[in-house]
Amino acid sequence: MSVEIDAARCLGCGACVAICPGDLLELQDGQVIMRQADDCWRCAACLKACPAGALSLRLAAVAGGRGWRLSVTSQDNRLLWRCLPPQAGEAEIIFSVDPQDPNPY
Ligand code: SF4
Ligand code: SF4
Repeated sequence: MSVEIDAARCLGCGACVAICPGDLLELQDGQVIMRQADDCWRCAACLKACPAGALSLRLAAVAGGRGWRLSVTSQDNRLLWRCLPPQAGEAEIIFSVDPQDPNPY
């Protein structure tokens, strides 16, 4: 499954379009759309680039599965990798990462 787009949050800034290494995203009428979902290899570059937290990836079963989604937002010069539960009321799991840290996140 590829990136999910929350159209209500999208600002139409184009940052995700510019950074996608597969050129899979496109702006149409100020909203981003996925052109070739099957070609998305889930690198999460677009999630990290989005200033609005409008993009997310559904986590695979091996990474928790069961409808959990991964989103990335920034706060105080750090990236917050958020695992979002499928049900309201369940706690999010958040990893705070220094974007200068040369790790895979
Ligand atoms: S996850 Fe990576 S390959 Fe998929 S749309 Fe985002 S930037 Fe492109
Ligand atoms: S980076 Fe986020 S806000 Fe900007 S166009 Fe993409 S989805 Fe919309």
